[in-house]
Amino acid sequence: IPVTETLEFQSEARQLLQLMIHSIYSNKDVFLRELVSNASDALDKLRLETYRDKDLEADTSDLHIELETDPVARTLTVRDNGIGMTRDEVVSLIGTIAKSGTAELLAKLRETKDSAASADLIGQFGVGFYSSFMVADKVTLVTRRAGADEGVRWESAGEGTYTIEPAEDAPQGTSVVLHLKPEDTEDKLYDYASPAKVREVVKRYSDFITWPIRMAKAAPAEESDESTDGELETVNSMKALWARSASEVTEDELTEFYRHVSHDWSPPLETIRLQAEGTFEYQALLFLPSRAPFDLFMRDARRGVQLYVKRVFIMDDCEALVPEYLRFVKGVVDAQDLSLNVSREILQQDRQIELIRRRLVRKVLSTVKALEPEKYRTFWTEFGKAVKEGLVSDAGNRDSILEICSFPSTHSADEPTRLADYVARMKDGQEHIYYLTGESRQAIENSPHLEAFRAKDYEVLVLTDPIDEMWVDAVEGFEGKQFQSVAKGQLDLDEQESEHTEEFKPLLDWMTTALGDTVKEVRLSSRLTTSPACIVGDEHDLTPTLEKMYRAMGQ
Ligand code: ADP
Ligand code: MG
Repeated sequence: IPVTETLEFQSEARQLLQLMIHSIYSNKDVFLRELVSNASDALDKLRLETYRDKDLEADTSDLHIELETDPVARTLTVRDNGIGMTRDEVVSLIGTIAKSGTAELLAKLRETKDSAASADLIGQFGVGFYSSFMVADKVTLVTRRAGADEGVRWESAGEGTYTIEPAEDAPQGTSVVLHLKPEDTEDKLYDYASPAKVREVVKRYSDFITWPIRMAKAAPAEESDESTDGELETVNSMKALWARSASEVTEDELTEFYRHVSHDWSPPLETIRLQAEGTFEYQALLFLPSRAPFDLFMRDARRGVQLYVKRVFIMDDCEALVPEYLRFVKGVVDAQDLSLNVSREILQQDRQIELIRRRLVRKVLSTVKALEPEKYRTFWTEFGKAVKEGLVSDAGNRDSILEICSFPSTHSADEPTRLADYVARMKDGQEHIYYLTGESRQAIENSPHLEAFRAKDYEVLVLTDPIDEMWVDAVEGFEGKQFQSVAKGQLDLDEQESEHTEEFKPLLDWMTTALGDTVKEVRLSSRLTTSPACIVGDEHDLTPTLEKMYRAMGQ
């Protein structure tokens, strides 16, 4: 006997659903893009799994997506015959949100009173399937995992609980039935039971989906909402964007494609194309997002680039294609000569993938370098911290990375400086690029170490990110100028120290003895102008911040 169970949504999921139901996002059309995107992913996954598992009993003869409208019952159904879900998958994938950053997002949303700002936050987070509840007061999902005997029926009004029960005759794949909210009927703008409306939304948001999206054939009178009996037609062009020439693709198409691969609702900052012909052919269509995802600095952050082989989706988050410090780059790489069976392990050692990766990194760095100032500023604010990791991890591209870095400095309180500009401002006789690391700009500005530099009007980089402590040790220099901490070692600002050393020897000796093991040496210095004394580290000592970091890590 089939049992219907009533289960509760995980609390984060419940809160996000509430936001969706009270629709803080003004553009409701996007729900359809999310559902079509899920259907497309499900077809990709099935195709891939049948390559990998020859014993899988799945029907792959006519993989497609179908949209069905019923103006009388006021429903819209999105159906695919893809991978489907087991009962446990439905519970974990639909009933909970495993995305990192959810708690932080919800906390921010609670603080935000402005609804446009909330919509912005939620769009950035990407709510996927839950966006159905912007237009539906009840959603029914029936699914059967490819190869499984029995299906599952899930239903919810989005209010805290859902029901789940076995579904005997469910076809392979997933269908999502939206019971549309009544209030949208009047407003033709949001009538998702109208085939004309649905067709328009699909054309706008999902045209590039590489699977056929079918709908009942429109009746001869173009604008009519009536449909001809049973006949279906494909409503999307199915053209892979990355395989088309740049001139053929519109800005809007690119933006929608970006949204599909990135799950980001805002438009990209910049598009990057790469084409390689000849013995090893590939195409890449990459994007720099206009803002950092929530999980940029979380351990399980996703890497953005998808791998296709000859138009066939192979994997998300292909880490072999982008180094970690460029993990925010989104998009697609389509390689012609790889095996469809290629695994992550094999990719890590594949020479051709290595070549693509190198070219891709160079292209991303040169694109950032060429960004117009306004876009560059956005880029650096959002992704600078991640990019600086590359100074440590990618020795081969260090110089190119330095070229796109900006650092706060004593030159300006609010505008960070590119190194080339720093070098251009260097004073006569200044040999090094000076910096000071610390916890905050204020702490650094109050440091007695800066006094002599201020007096000489030397510019000092003000480095406050933990990663700064790492790269300053790894990097040799920039344009032949070495990086030099103002808090370490002997400074070559002036040579007059020795003159007075004899005179002050008794005092220095006394102090060295009195301070005992706490210091190595007490010496005269010209680095101070108003403070009587300061503590400096040796050239190769850890900085106080690094020392603190190591101590925090238990070392
Ligand atoms: P995302 O697509 O970003 O993972 P969604 O909320 O859109 O987030 O979907 C959550 C998960 O539910 C998907 O990752 C997928 O595993 C599963 N899912 C959703 N729709 C389908 C579908 N049509 N077929 C199979 N699985 C699906
Ligand atoms: Mg999705």
